[in-house]
Amino acid sequence: MARSNESQGKGAGDGSVVPPKGSPPHASEHLLRLPGYTITRLQETEHDYHIALETRSPNRRCPNDHTEHCVGYGRSELLIHDLPMHGKRVGLYIDARRFKCRDCGKTFMEPLPGVDGEHR
Ligand SMILES: [Zn+2]
Repeated sequence: MARSNESQGKGAGDGSVVPPKGSPPHASEHLLRLPGYTITRLQETEHDYHIALETRSPNRRCPNDHTEHCVGYGRSELLIHDLPMHGKRVGLYIDARRFKCRDCGKTFMEPLPGVDGEHR
């Protein structure tokens, strides 16, 4: 669906957008400069874009002993502010997987390509 991104004066309140089916919008991916992610949810509100992402192929290698004997251990959502698009603020919600290493018991978050590690 080709929607103009200019605000059309629609005063709709919920601002929810049907998630894209089949082919994710490549243009957005390019704009976000985050290759390797899948857009799982895209929401446009009056002042913001809320974009939910997850990695395509999570890396479950333990950073401690570099084995892959790791099991899923829930998820963490990271909020990252990206550069504004079309005058709207962009919030990226990255649905990061957590793993627990069965060898050393350490829990860790999957590495997120393109995201600086200054978040905890
Ligand atoms: Zn380990």
